[in-house]
Amino acid sequence: MSKSINEFLKNELAKLEEQKLYKHERIIESPQGAEILVKGKKVLNFCANNYLGLSSHPALIQGAHEGIDSRGFGLSSVRFICGTQDRHKVLERKLADFLGMEDSILFSSCFDANGAMFEPLFGEEDAIITDALNHASIIDGIRLAKAQRWIYKHSDMRDVEEEDPSTGKMAKGLERCLKEANEKGIRFKVIATDGVFSMDGDIAKLDEICDLAEKYDALVMVDDSHATGFVGKTGRGTHEHNNVMGRIDIITTTFGKALGGASGGAVVASKEITEWLRNKGRPYLFSNTVAPSVVEATIRALDLLTASTELRDKLEKNTQIFRKALTDAGFDILPGVHPITPIMFRKYENSSKVAVEFADRLLDEGIYVIAFSFPVVPKGKDRIRVQLSAAHEIEHIDKAINAFIKVGKAMQLI
Ligand SMILES: *Cc1c(COP(=O)(O)O)cnc(C)c1O
Repeated sequence: MSKSINEFLKNELAKLEEQKLYKHERIIESPQGAEILVKGKKVLNFCANNYLGLSSHPALIQGAHEGIDSRGFGLSSVRFICGTQDRHKVLERKLADFLGMEDSILFSSCFDANGAMFEPLFGEEDAIITDALNHASIIDGIRLAKAQRWIYKHSDMRDVEEEDPSTGKMAKGLERCLKEANEKGIRFKVIATDGVFSMDGDIAKLDEICDLAEKYDALVMVDDSHATGFVGKTGRGTHEHNNVMGRIDIITTTFGKALGGASGGAVVASKEITEWLRNKGRPYLFSNTVAPSVVEATIRALDLLTASTELRDKLEKNTQIFRKALTDAGFDILPGVHPITPIMFRKYENSSKVAVEFADRLLDEGIYVIAFSFPVVPKGKDRIRVQLSAAHEIEHIDKAINAFIKVGKAMQLI
């Protein structure tokens, strides 16, 4: 047995620690919710993807219990051997209907959905055109495919290639990539994008992307993990927000965020695409089926959101109140409508230290948020990323706003 890898890793881990890249985990001793227990202390949580407050919602917990009672704990099988229950089919139908698409196929996670979908659909004679800031799972999914690749500068729709001042490297706009792919006589082209980009909370320009896709005969794939359930006026996602429902070919999404936050994901698309993935998608063929408790609870989540927009409306209101109060108080907030609210520290000298100290002081005030500082984000883009939730009551939001103002004044930032 060789011990040398452990020695090597010990060294590398120490380096991570030195570079402040080591990922420390804070331990939560309670269920996920607006209020959580950290080191025996109650704090308000402002950094979960629990957008609709469904993570510990009674209807979902009851659904999970009923799922176990009626269909058992696990299936010990992949879908095509003996891992498909009636309730998996119900969830697939409900999810496709909710998103206004033809069909859907479940995966253990959205990471798996993205890992499964590119390789069977796009081969050497095809092109994948991908936003530079896409999620790691889209990047990995694309790596598994043999298709040719083009990367376009984040949300840049133009027919240009120019130096990107932030990197010093040449970068192309989406239309330039589509033109180049056309000149190469590519068979199928697919534009792949996050619906919402999680660092800044900005939403993909799907209307312009769809226009270009139609002009150059490309498919559009959107990963709506940070949108399904609450973005758009009835919570269908970024395609609803951008008024392009019916013009998107493939949506991938997660059940691990707004839809209850346990686990699971899906590809939502035409009947032919989902059928192909049931036959060829490797994480579907070779990984276990989604557990009955998760299936049943996710069905309950979709039923709740189909019956009423109350939760997404509350989240929208919470987001507006928080964004406005902090902007009025003099904080530097990236503008937008998403509950991801980045509070930037770029105005201050030593901004990365300031952001980290700010987050620590907020925790002393009972507000749990995370600072993202260099090198996790580019130099000068240090921030605290607040995420609002429908689980927050107005008292929680007020407490957070007051804490931001108190710490901001104490640190002489506002
Ligand atoms: C969170 C996220 C994922 C991963 O989802 P899991 O179901 O947790 O694997 C994939 N894509 C995007 C854009 C995400 O934000």
